[in-house]
Amino acid sequence: MSDFTWSYSALKEYENCPKKYYEIRVAKTYTVIPSEKMIYGTEVHKALEDYVKDGKELALNYLRFKGAVDELIAIPGEKYAEHEMALGKDKSPCAFDDPNRWVRGIVDLLIVDNDYAFIVDYKTGSNRYPDPKQLRLMSLMAFAHFPQVNKIKAGLLFVMHNTFITEEYKREDIASSWGKFTVSLARLDNSYITNTWVANSTPLCRFCPVKTCEFNRT
Ligand code: SF4
Repeated sequence: MSDFTWSYSALKEYENCPKKYYEIRVAKTYTVIPSEKMIYGTEVHKALEDYVKDGKELALNYLRFKGAVDELIAIPGEKYAEHEMALGKDKSPCAFDDPNRWVRGIVDLLIVDNDYAFIVDYKTGSNRYPDPKQLRLMSLMAFAHFPQVNKIKAGLLFVMHNTFITEEYKREDIASSWGKFTVSLARLDNSYITNTWVANSTPLCRFCPVKTCEFNRT
């Protein structure tokens, strides 16, 4: 395996378009300029982090999220807001900034109650196409970092719609969960080894910052 590091968002970006992944994350020829939606999402995450971690009152425009978050805070167990986790290539836990890390991610809210844990990912966008696969990766990291945890309930909380998409993971399913990432990681590995980054033209190309791509017609 080549020597790359990854996160769920990086792997997803690669799956969507290897060329875009390369230009932004490897060659660093272009950077993503945050959209208004992205900036809003970052601000909501920070407000909810401060509310859960320090009890800082939510600003008036975020009070609509209070009820849903209060229900989560009421769940028994140790709360970890915006909790950073990383694993080495052997899938053992390591520090988030470990130079030998392989994969890492940040859980918006992790609650650990003895052998049971909750993972919550706040979403400020549409709930039309939920992607729970990132919850699977977060659960794999949580199982590694919290060896006493045997079962995890994980959910995408669409705060604008007050809907919750949930999944459950068990420690005995760790191997099969890693298997869900095998094909994508093998493709990414092969791209690094062969330095091959194929463009994948989709309607999203018009939002892409890679202006030199033949499929970018903005
Ligand atoms: S314009 Fe489209 S095909 Fe080209 S790099 Fe961007 S996302 Fe990929």
